Amino acid sequence: MTEAATSVADARARILACCPAISGDETVGLHDALGRVLAIDLLSPIDVPAHDNSAMDGYAFRHADLDTRGDTALDVIGSALAGRPWHGELGPGQAVRIMTGAVIPQGADTVVAQEEVCAEGTRIGVRPGVAKGMNVRLAGEDVARGRIALPAGRQLRPADIGLAASLGVSTLRVFRRLRVGLLSTGDELMSLGEAPREGGIYDSNRYTLGSMLARLGCDVVDLGIARDDRDALSAALGAAVGDVDALITSGGVSAGDADHVRHLLAELGAVEFWKIAMKPGRPMAFGRLSRDGRNTLLFGLPGNPVASMISFLFIVRDGLLRLMGVSPLPELPRFQAITDQTLRKPPGRTEYQRGIMSLRNGQWHVSVTGSQSSGILRSMCEADCIIELGNDLTRIDAGDPVQIIPFSGLL
Ligand code: AMP
Ligand code: MG
Repeated sequence: MTEAATSVADARARILACCPAISGDETVGLHDALGRVLAIDLLSPIDVPAHDNSAMDGYAFRHADLDTRGDTALDVIGSALAGRPWHGELGPGQAVRIMTGAVIPQGADTVVAQEEVCAEGTRIGVRPGVAKGMNVRLAGEDVARGRIALPAGRQLRPADIGLAASLGVSTLRVFRRLRVGLLSTGDELMSLGEAPREGGIYDSNRYTLGSMLARLGCDVVDLGIARDDRDALSAALGAAVGDVDALITSGGVSAGDADHVRHLLAELGAVEFWKIAMKPGRPMAFGRLSRDGRNTLLFGLPGNPVASMISFLFIVRDGLLRLMGVSPLPELPRFQAITDQTLRKPPGRTEYQRGIMSLRNGQWHVSVTGSQSSGILRSMCEADCIIELGNDLTRIDAGDPVQIIPFSGLL
């Protein structure tokens, strides 16, 4: 290594420092809210549940009536069902038959489950030992009126959207979608539909990265392919400035003769270039492109298909989430699994190997997919997790624990 490499954590932190939440929000209906990011706190307009109600099918009664030494006999004087309350007031020695979700009758404070009592006609016998308030769900227990039901910065999940509905809220104020331009670079790249030519390869990065962006909830602007030509590349980059919030390029960031991205970025804005102490994904450019007083953040990823995906996941993703307004940032889920093979690597860099998880005798194990070359996209298809080998590790023996990041929900 000629130049000191930046650590993964450092690169990510420096990107985060340049990624404030975008301005601009809009109102969307609940059906369009999945994956959007709340722009303001959602305060609950009502108590949920609105009334004290029963958590069980059983009988509601006054706890004070219970005999502590023996069974208590109670008269069943009515019944309450979900959505069909019983409208009387319960007196001493009385009970009301009650179903799950039904409003607790006035005067009652406790519910005993039906399988706990002996019922005979309109009388029941309740054993001692039933705690006061048992099986009663209190009004406002789920969400109290005026409280924050969902905080600003939350990327909405199915349960959140259901929670909004449970409050009677039909629209939400969310950040506008982040517009991200996607540009592939390379003379060898062919677009889909193009007839194969000698030395040509189909551009896959625009599809993998585009899908990862879509999964994050970004609006993807497909900027096609730029040739390895300074002018063509400069024009493509310049056109994107101000039109998109962020631009992601792939390829052309190494030190080869046709690698123009890093030099162009220096001309068109303020750019940092890093060799990141990671594999795959060593070279990366990051910075701000400027034109006519407008700015666009640029993430210049390496061209190798696996390297571009790994860089996106471990370096770029957090920055994009922050731009989208997500706060707090979700940690990637990391777990321990037993490695089936002995894994080796040099110290001084973080390695991301592709793994396949399996559950054996209650313990998660992980096996590497075949070749770990960063050009083999198939290894990402076969894998269902990434094995993360930290900076200082050099060897992990088969049977020892390693850290894995499962793909589910991510890739
Ligand atoms: P580069 O980073 O430009 O040196 O490219 C590294 C490797 O990735 C080369 O083998 C390229 O052909 C390949 N590559 C670059 N861009 C793409 C792309 N968009 N789709 C698939 N492979 C690519
Ligand atoms: Mg190239």
